[in-house]
Amino acid sequence: HEGIHTNVTAMPFDTSYDSRRTDDFLIMNDLASALKMDEDLYLVYQPKICLHSGKTVGLEALIRWDHPLRGELFPSQFIPLAKKTNLLSELTDWVINRVIAQLKTWNQEYTLIPVSINASERDFSKPGFADALAAKLQDAQLPASVMGIECLENELVTESRVAVEGLQSLKAHGFDISLDDFGIGYSNISYLQDLPLDVVKIDMSLITRLANDATSRIIVSNIIRMLKELNYTVLAEGVETEATLTLLKQYGCDQVQGYFCSKPIPASDIEHWLAPRAR
Ligand code: C2E
Ligand code: MG
Ligand code: MG
Ligand code: MG
Repeated sequence: HEGIHTNVTAMPFDTSYDSRRTDDFLIMNDLASALKMDEDLYLVYQPKICLHSGKTVGLEALIRWDHPLRGELFPSQFIPLAKKTNLLSELTDWVINRVIAQLKTWNQEYTLIPVSINASERDFSKPGFADALAAKLQDAQLPASVMGIECLENELVTESRVAVEGLQSLKAHGFDISLDDFGIGYSNISYLQDLPLDVVKIDMSLITRLANDATSRIIVSNIIRMLKELNYTVLAEGVETEATLTLLKQYGCDQVQGYFCSKPIPASDIEHWLAPRAR
C-alpha cells in the first residue's frame, strides 16, 4: 500500500518527526473541513464476485480524497490518522450517508445490490451505533440487508466486550457482517466463535502468493476448508491473476475481489458494470 508513513521510530532529535506531525495535523484539519463541507471526498465501489455463479453479489465502498493541493489521496494516507482522532466517527457517518443516497439512486434506476462499508471497532463500540444505522436505512425505505459492515480482524482480537456487543446489535438488526483482512498476524482464531460473522475475508497477503508458493497453497486451502466447515461465507481479497482464481475455485472459496475481476469503480460506472452481471 502507498502509505506516506513509515514506521521510523521517533528519535529525540529527529526533525522529520516534527514535520511529519505538523503535516498530519494539516491533513486532519483539511479532512475535518472536507467532511463538513462535503467536498473532495468520494466513494469507489469494488465488486464482489460469486465463484459459484460468476455474478456480482455485492460491492465494497472504499473512500477516496481528491485533495485540492495534494492530489488523489488513498485511505492509507488519512484513515490511520482519522482513527487517532474523533474524525473517524464523522468519516464513517459521511460514508454511511453517501452509500444510502447511492443505494436509493441505484434502487430506483436499476437494482438493489448490497454495499458493504469499512467500519472500525471504534464505530460499532459507540452506544446506539446499530440503532442509528437501522433508523437511517428505515428512513430511506431500504432493508438492512442492503448494507454490510466490514470490521478489521486486528481490531477485534482485542476481545473488547463492547465491540462484540456492538457487532451483535448490528447482526440483530439484520446487517451482514464481514471480518476483514483475516489471517494477518493474529492467529488466535478461537475468538471467531464469539463474533456474529457472516463472511470472512482472507487478506490479500495470503492470496497473492498462492500461485507461486506451495506452502501458501496448503495454508489457504485449509483455512478455506475450516471456515466453510464453520459455515462462513469465504471471500478472498486481492485476486490478481486467473491462476489464483482457478485455485480458489478448487478450494471451494465462495467469493473474490481483486484487480483480476475489477478494480474499484466510480459510482457513475456501476450501472454499466452491473447490467450484464447482476444477480
Ligand atoms: P480493505 O477493506 O481490505 O480494502 C481492500 C483494499 O485493497 C482497497 O484498497 C482496494 O482498492 C485494494 N485492492 C483490491 N483488490 C486489489 C488487488 O487485486 N490488488 C491490490 N494490490 N489491491 C487491491 P484501498 O481502497 O486503498 O483501502 C485500503 C484500506 O483502507 C481498506 O482495506 C480499508 O481497511 C480502509 N478503508 C477504505 N475505505 C474506508 C472507509 O471508508 N472507512 C474506513 N474506516 N476504512 C476504509
Ligand atoms: Mg474492507
Ligand atoms: Mg481487507
Ligand atoms: Mg486491507
